[in-house]
Amino acid sequence: MSMEKIVNLAKRRGFAYQSSEIYGGLASCWDYGPVGVELKRNVKDAWWREMAQARRDIVGIDSSILMHPRVWEASGHIEGFTDPLVDCKSCKQRFRADHISGDRCPECGGELTAARRFNLMFKTFMGPVEDTASTVFLRPETAQGIFVNFQNVQTASRQKIPFGIAQVGKSFRNEITPGNFLFRTREFEQMEMEFFVKPGDDERWFHYWQEERLSWYLRYGMRRENLRIRPHGADELAHYAKACADIEYHFPFGWSELEGIANRTDYDLRRHTEYSGKDLRYFDEEARERYFPYVIEPAAGADRATLAFLVDAYYEDEVEGEPRVVLRFHPKLAPIKAAVFPLLRKDGQPERALEVRDIVGAHFPVHYDQAGSIGRRYRRQDEIGTPFGVTVDHQTMQDQTVTLRDRDSTEQARLPIDRLVDEIRRRIEAPFTR
Ligand code: ATP
Repeated sequence: MSMEKIVNLAKRRGFAYQSSEIYGGLASCWDYGPVGVELKRNVKDAWWREMAQARRDIVGIDSSILMHPRVWEASGHIEGFTDPLVDCKSCKQRFRADHISGDRCPECGGELTAARRFNLMFKTFMGPVEDTASTVFLRPETAQGIFVNFQNVQTASRQKIPFGIAQVGKSFRNEITPGNFLFRTREFEQMEMEFFVKPGDDERWFHYWQEERLSWYLRYGMRRENLRIRPHGADELAHYAKACADIEYHFPFGWSELEGIANRTDYDLRRHTEYSGKDLRYFDEEARERYFPYVIEPAAGADRATLAFLVDAYYEDEVEGEPRVVLRFHPKLAPIKAAVFPLLRKDGQPERALEVRDIVGAHFPVHYDQAGSIGRRYRRQDEIGTPFGVTVDHQTMQDQTVTLRDRDSTEQARLPIDRLVDEIRRRIEAPFTR
């Protein structure tokens, strides 16, 4: 399956569009449409539910995108958050040196310049004066908002180590070679959790979080054969990391990082202590000692995960001899949970179906569709991955029952309207198999 199919479906059905398309588009920025916004929100909610709310040992925050410029000195981003950039002397295209093999231009075979370091942070100005004193950066990761608030959060939440702080929010990187649709963009959303542990316990938690995060993708229906864990080699490690492992997904363009799990050691808290002059050590009441906790960080991308769930759900099959495209999302991730159809556009069925739409719509995102044959209407919902179809027919008008159709098995059941919401909820919560 090609990325082109996904990009076309995404545009046609309202998952995602090129940013500022009517002006020719802004490279590497995307806008989510009516079903895309629901899908991405469900991905973020699934993460937040499990990574911030359901656990006793994690709390959430939402920090600002703009931070004091000293943060980025302390974090090492001013000095170290760079990619090696090479230019082609013939066609003038730019590449990330670590993304190409050989020493010639991958586009035209021309000679390349020597690699130079290129800082990926976006700069802007704060206040009315545009000078170096007012330069601020758009955050390239959400993690630093967590580190600088470590003490605030620990004091308020009274969490004891080991514990974590989770955050979902926008990050910005002036990537040299963005591309592959939502995979690598310059503005994107991250889902990061910093888990603070006692030094010496870090390796155990590093492995724990790899397993935990892998099983999260599996629980939401991602196929096991499309996922793998790849430990980083020593030469790949970020400036702050002792060890790192990527959860990779088998995208149509190859195995690529979905999420990184890093052992950031005590690097960040130590550096912020040094640069801010505030002692960010943790006081362990039981051991009566003060120390810098180590940090294990599972860092995922909301857009990358959304893309992977979209790709993974994409199937082409046949129903009654007709080809169909169907997105087999886990019902919890599906943008629209149910579609309501009147079988006929007469005999009061559309009016009754609209009432049913509103009953279900009070609880879940729902579509109403009365245009075309019932088969065509099912196909439209299959293409956006709606797991349940509700049909109002002749019998509904007599006994207040409707049919409920399952997207994957295409099986239908009849039930009273007043049991519909509970039944849909039960099916959303049920263990999911494709
Ligand atoms: P890469 O090697 O692909 O540039 P990275 O290792 O720099 O990524 P991290 O800093 O570990 O990425 O960021 C954590 C997660 O944030 C990534 O696994 C990815 O899901 C997401 N992410 C990072 N950069 C981008 C981007 N440019 N576009 C979309 N998502 C991104």
